[in-house]
Amino acid sequence: MRIAIASGKGGTGKTLIATSLAVHWAKQGKAVTYVDADVEEPNGHLFLRPTFEKTTRHTVPVPRLAGFCDGCAKCQDACAFNAIIALKERVQVFDELCHSCGACVNACPHNSLKLQPRELGDLRHGMAKNINFIDGLLDVGEARATPLIEGVVEAADGELVIIDSPPGASCPAVTAIRGADIAVLITEPTLFGVHDLDLAVQVCQKLNVPPIIVLNRANLGGDMMDAIKATGAPLVAQIDFDPQISVATARGELAIDVVPGFADAIANIADAIVVSEVVS
Ligand code: SF4
Ligand code: SF4
Repeated sequence: MRIAIASGKGGTGKTLIATSLAVHWAKQGKAVTYVDADVEEPNGHLFLRPTFEKTTRHTVPVPRLAGFCDGCAKCQDACAFNAIIALKERVQVFDELCHSCGACVNACPHNSLKLQPRELGDLRHGMAKNINFIDGLLDVGEARATPLIEGVVEAADGELVIIDSPPGASCPAVTAIRGADIAVLITEPTLFGVHDLDLAVQVCQKLNVPPIIVLNRANLGGDMMDAIKATGAPLVAQIDFDPQISVATARGELAIDVVPGFADAIANIADAIVVSEVVS
């Protein structure tokens, strides 16, 4: 089962829940893979503290001129993303816009364009508390996160794969959620939280990934129950604010190990995920 832990906005406690679920299932002897797909600022490693065993550079193919160019601009015309322009006897490729489709390569009458690898960031594998750990670390200044997210998500397999997704409802989140069996959307009882939750639910529905909702810090903020119900996704668990969780998080500790009662809350969420996935 592939489980995307996602949220419409940042700071809702997504990584807290994702890492805690990984620890919960690992303690039950399940084969768990935790994937930190928030490649622009991965922080799952701060809590699970893996021992990294393998780091590879992740690349995407981009066109480079490797031969004669007469400036015909057929490559430019073939590109649907405005990622290449023809100049006199050379081309300019805008790597951040390139989707690696290869259309320009096929269009060149002189066969002068070749796809060559461009590095985006690190893809890291390790082990943490009997959890198979994978994350991605986008290079500083790199604009395209989605190819690395794809690489990180595709690298994961196993009985239970927990994908700690980037926040939001745009391409990075879509890339992480796509293909999951279920999405657990973490939200908080604020206007922003519920507004962005609604967007995240819509993304899941478009992707045919059934969403369920966990309301974090449920005893703070206002009464958002009607708004949460209006999203159409089931609310399966509520976690009240507990300063002990904040303290543990600030220390880089796993709240599931040190905060009384939190393990029970995570166990309830784990059960809800299994039940919801079976029902859907
Ligand atoms: S590989 Fe595709 S997206 Fe990239 S420059 Fe060529 S045509 Fe454009
Ligand atoms: S299609 Fe080939 S020859 Fe024409 S501008 Fe592009 S690289 Fe140059």
